[in-house]
Amino acid sequence: MISIRKYFRIIFIALILLLFCFPQTALLQTTFVEYICAGTDYETPVYIIKTDYKEPTIMIVAGTHGNEKAGIKAAEYLKDNLHIERGTLIIIPKANIFACEENARYFPPEINLNRVYPGNPQGNSVEKLAYEIFSLMKRYDIGLLVDLHESIEFYRKNPKNYGQTVVIDSNDDYLFELSSFLVEKMNQGIIEDGNRYQVLVDPVKGSTAYCAHHQLGILALTFETCRKLPLSFRIEEQIKFVKIILSKWNMLAVQR
Ligand SMILES: [Zn+2]
Repeated sequence: MISIRKYFRIIFIALILLLFCFPQTALLQTTFVEYICAGTDYETPVYIIKTDYKEPTIMIVAGTHGNEKAGIKAAEYLKDNLHIERGTLIIIPKANIFACEENARYFPPEINLNRVYPGNPQGNSVEKLAYEIFSLMKRYDIGLLVDLHESIEFYRKNPKNYGQTVVIDSNDDYLFELSSFLVEKMNQGIIEDGNRYQVLVDPVKGSTAYCAHHQLGILALTFETCRKLPLSFRIEEQIKFVKIILSKWNMLAVQR
């Protein structure tokens, strides 16, 4: 008959061994869901992945334009599959959920969510949506905003479109250095020259990133893949872009 003392000793040793062999089990992340524009047609989920270390806080926004699928799919994949061990990650996969469901760039068709920031709590439904996303950035005191987009054409072919770029809204030295680093990392896996990324300094007033950067002083990036490339590849690229950022901020759990 095994004594109670021995029994607890075995359990204790087993727990120590478990922690030693699988140290990642000690690092727990918790996902919370909250909703913006709750109770309206624009109600959309926000996934907040928390760890024991609050900082840094990074926000990923996708679905600002509802027909830019790669970012939306990537954000959905990330919120279900990411394992972080530091910081807080906030993911909005479908910022304009109405446009996402309609597979439309804007919804309603005449209002571009990416031009109405910081929004207006008394304005139209899209301005209210922008205001809620802007308020969320302030409430969580985010340090970096990543806005995932897609374009119909390569910037290299037609500079009116932003396909395969990282767009920043000012000449800020650190922001430029950071986006250049990200572009260099992304380009390491690109074989075809035409698909390579580049940094574009182009302040777009009223956009999510412009407003985050100029009104809240947050580091902000807009990532654009080109829709002429296969969807599966674009989704992988969007996931890769976010993962490079998380690993630069030492947030990703190390695969052991
Ligand atoms: Zn877009």
